[in-house]
Amino acid sequence: VAGPPPDLSTLLEWADETRRLAVRVNADTAAEVDTAVALGAEGVGLCRTEHQFLGERLPLIRRVILAADPAARDEALVALERAQHEDFRALLTAVGNRPVTVRLLDAPLHEFLPAPGQALDAAEEQRAAALREANPMLGLRGVRLALLHERLYPAQAEALFAAWVDVAATGVRPALEVMVPLISLPEELAAAAAYVREAADAVAARTGVRVPYRLGTMVETPRAALLAGELAEHAEFFSFGTNDLTQLTYGFSRDDVERQVLASYQERGFLTASPFARLDPHGVGALIALAVERARSVRPGIKLGVCGEHGGDPESIAFCDGLGLDYVSCSAHRVPVARMAAAHSVLGRRHEESGSAR
Ligand code: PEP
Ligand code: MG
Repeated sequence: VAGPPPDLSTLLEWADETRRLAVRVNADTAAEVDTAVALGAEGVGLCRTEHQFLGERLPLIRRVILAADPAARDEALVALERAQHEDFRALLTAVGNRPVTVRLLDAPLHEFLPAPGQALDAAEEQRAAALREANPMLGLRGVRLALLHERLYPAQAEALFAAWVDVAATGVRPALEVMVPLISLPEELAAAAAYVREAADAVAARTGVRVPYRLGTMVETPRAALLAGELAEHAEFFSFGTNDLTQLTYGFSRDDVERQVLASYQERGFLTASPFARLDPHGVGALIALAVERARSVRPGIKLGVCGEHGGDPESIAFCDGLGLDYVSCSAHRVPVARMAAAHSVLGRRHEESGSAR
């Protein structure tokens, strides 16, 4: 065809006509959502609520976790709920009528606890010391912390539902998905789902509005992948957390010296890429495939996505497309690449099919 080459936005529109996978963004704030929507994101696949407690809000979450006195803890929880209500109202307003997956708190405790010597007083230092862990990424994270601090998830969920009611009053209805992190036992998910249900009931009693939502889980531990069938009994969607799933499948730390090992393994040709950057089809990918099959056997229409770093990597996206997942979610700047990669995967499959038909 004669004429100038198509510009990027035209190419991306072609990609959108071809691709099957939806592309969402990992975003925690309204500003990030706005940026990502402008780049073509079709919703939020992961809002990491723990990011809303770093910086200025650290003292607040510390009070919730470390308060010795129940009255002080309750007061901190009320403040937390109020702060989250504002966070969620802004986020949901930016999301509009799109889907949004809000993940309940998942922070390794070392991100929240005061460093040794930084506590407010000796009593706080003593309580913090009791909670410091040698392996925080394997410790009191995600749902595990929420089961020890039983008001934490209800406070977050009530804030979220109340924010949805506020936003719905302006005529916007985000498709809300509430997600539980770091599950490895179906019992953990059932307990967290009950907290969320109670929060929905409380908001319905208070506002007269029953907020529609889906309850789902991260699948980011090998055990969760293996027990996908049991988890699917409690979950309307799964989001594969391929960062933790890679860490836990290989036993390579996401953060530490294994980077040197990975570099050396690539030099030796053991690995073609870091498994944290590209889904390994034989290990992590095989676990995902197995989980997809087991989940669908229990809940055929279960919604499935990926929200780890791999959600923005073209080869990993092709793998997810091949499994028939519903969406990938990635950082805002990777959204255009993900749109192209999702289309490329469809074209590649068509090409192979037409080749094998010949
Ligand atoms: C993951 O583990 O892949 C994930 C998306 O969660 P996070 O990176 O927040 O642990
Ligand atoms: Mg994770």
